[in-house]
Amino acid sequence: MANKTAIITGASSGIGEATAKELARSGIRLMLAARREDRLVQLKKEIEALGGQAEYRVTDVTSRADMESLAQATIEAYGQIDILVNNAGLMPLSYIRSLKVDEWDRMIDVNIKGVLYGIAAVLPHMEERNEGHIINVSSVAGHEIAPSGAVYSATKFAVRTLTEGLRKELRPDQNIRTTIISPGAVDTELTHSITDTNVKTVMSGFLNKIVPLKGEDIAAAIRYAIEQPTSVSINEIIVRPTSQP
Ligand code: NDP
Repeated sequence: MANKTAIITGASSGIGEATAKELARSGIRLMLAARREDRLVQLKKEIEALGGQAEYRVTDVTSRADMESLAQATIEAYGQIDILVNNAGLMPLSYIRSLKVDEWDRMIDVNIKGVLYGIAAVLPHMEERNEGHIINVSSVAGHEIAPSGAVYSATKFAVRTLTEGLRKELRPDQNIRTTIISPGAVDTELTHSITDTNVKTVMSGFLNKIVPLKGEDIAAAIRYAIEQPTSVSINEIIVRPTSQP
């Protein structure tokens, strides 16, 4: 694990932040990406206090130029990109009939296009090196659909489709691994983007009935996928709270 470098998008909170700390503890050099600079500055300090190495770059994953600069900055800082964790995501759940079209657009932009721009930014470099690992964060919602979750689920099904499609296109001698991470409910800021008050109430009721995972639980799954020998490709991990139906 030491000497490897990883880009983590959505590193400013939740799963991304926990993953950054977990990977830093394993000696992986990090490039942290998100829009909230204050959070990234704080995380960089915390990682350095743990003895890890981290740089950050303020990045909007919906900007192809930002994603290209992020990859370039990582190569400039560390000479290589071994791992990309495409983790940034939004979940403003709502019923289709509510026609929250702007929120659909934002989910599609961040959850699908952001992942594609991440792949586009690192794939040529990984192909040149014949080595790499692309980890895309989908969801249990990429396997199941619930009322109010159709658009979010569509984006997370897409993440799984794109990851598996990429895997099928890669040649065996390219040594590029792909992993889909599909978490169940995790206690993070993700639900803060829900604007529909009915859906918020339903979601709170659901979360009160279960014991949600912590970001660290998903970080451990990501570390597991990375730490396998390069001949072993963990293609998907689903992690649900034991109490989640
Ligand atoms: P958080 O809301 O805590 O984190 C989301 C992260 O995404 C933040 O760091 C945010 O940073 C970043 N982000 C959002 N929009 C953009 C953007 N345009 N450009 C760059 N970064 C952006 O939620 P989670 O940690 O829970 O979510 C992480 C991933 O896990 C998401 O893909 C989510 O769909 C997935 N997931 C989460 C589950 C859960 O129950 N929590 C379950 C299943 C999957 P900033 O605002 O600073 O840009």
